[in-house]
Amino acid sequence: MSKYAIAIHGGAGTILKSLMTPEKEAAYTLALSEAIAAGENILKSGGSALDAVEKAIVSLENNPLFNAGRGAVFTNEGKNELDASIMSGLDLSAGAVAGVKNIKNPISLAKAVMQQSEHVFMAGHGAEEFARKVKAEFMPDDYFFVQMRYDQYLQAKQSDTIQLDHTVDKEKKFGTVGAVALDLSGNTAAGTSTGGMTNKKHGRVGDTPVIGAGTYANNITCAISCTGHGEFFIRSVVAYDISCLMEYKGLSLKEACDVVVMNKLVKIGGEGGLVALDAKGNIELPFNSEGMYRAKKSSNSELFVGIYK
Ligand code: ASP
Repeated sequence: MSKYAIAIHGGAGTILKSLMTPEKEAAYTLALSEAIAAGENILKSGGSALDAVEKAIVSLENNPLFNAGRGAVFTNEGKNELDASIMSGLDLSAGAVAGVKNIKNPISLAKAVMQQSEHVFMAGHGAEEFARKVKAEFMPDDYFFVQMRYDQYLQAKQSDTIQLDHTVDKEKKFGTVGAVALDLSGNTAAGTSTGGMTNKKHGRVGDTPVIGAGTYANNITCAISCTGHGEFFIRSVVAYDISCLMEYKGLSLKEACDVVVMNKLVKIGGEGGLVALDAKGNIELPFNSEGMYRAKKSSNSELFVGIYK
C-alpha cells in the first residue's frame, strides 16, 4: 500500500533546555508543526514530494526564528547572503542557488533553476538576474533584518569569529532549514535553505546548496537534508555518502546514517545532523550535536516534534 512521509529540520547545535523559555519552545514547536502541515497537505492530496519539500521549506523561510529567508544570519559585511538547493529522487534532477541577496524564498528559486534553466547551480548576480527573469519575489533588506541575528553578528565581528547561527554565548545552534518527503507515487525529494554562518566572509558558501553534501535524493536509496558546520559536511560529502552506503554496501537507512553522522563526521569534528527518509517511508533524524529542531509525520504515524537529545 502506498504511503506518504515527510521530515523537516530547523537546524542543529547546542540547543540547551536551560537557555530555552517555554514561550520560545512553543514558538519553535508551532513553526515546525506548521511547516509539516504545509508539506503534508500536498502529499495527502496526491501532490509531489518535490512540491511538499518546497512548501514546507517556504514556511520555515518565512519564519524569522530560522536562519533561512527572513531571519538569515549576517555576513562579515552586515548583509544576508542566501543558499538553497532542491533535488528530485525520481530522475536526479536538481537546482541550487548560492550567495543570493533579497530573494524571499531561495528554495523556490532553486526549484526554478531546476525546472526553468538548463543549469543546476547558479550563484550571486547571475542567479539574481535569473530570479528576475522567472519573476521570483524580491524583498528589501529590512525584511530580512532580525535584531537577534544582528546582535549575534556584532558580537561575532567584535571577537573576529565566524559563528554558527543562533550562537548566543555557550549556545551554539545551526538554524538552517530542510525537508525530505516521499509521495504517494513513491517518489522522494530533498531540499535545504540557509543564510549560512554568522560573520561568514562575503562569498563563503557552505554545504546547503551543494548537491551531494547538504542535499541529495534518489528513489533507489534515500532523500537527505543536512544542517551543521558546512565546511565539514562538504568535506564528508555527507548526503551522497549515506546514499552510497545504501546503494553499494546494502546498508539500511539507519545504519548508513549512523556511520556518517555518529562516526565519520564526529571523527573530523563535524557537528550537526540531518533528516532522511527512504522510498519505503522509513525516517531517520540523526544528529551528533546537543539538539536539533526536527519534526516528522507519515500517513500511518502521528506528528513528532523534537528539539533536544
Ligand atoms: N550548514 C550550514 C552552513 O554551513 C549552516 C547550518 O546548517 O546552519 O552554511
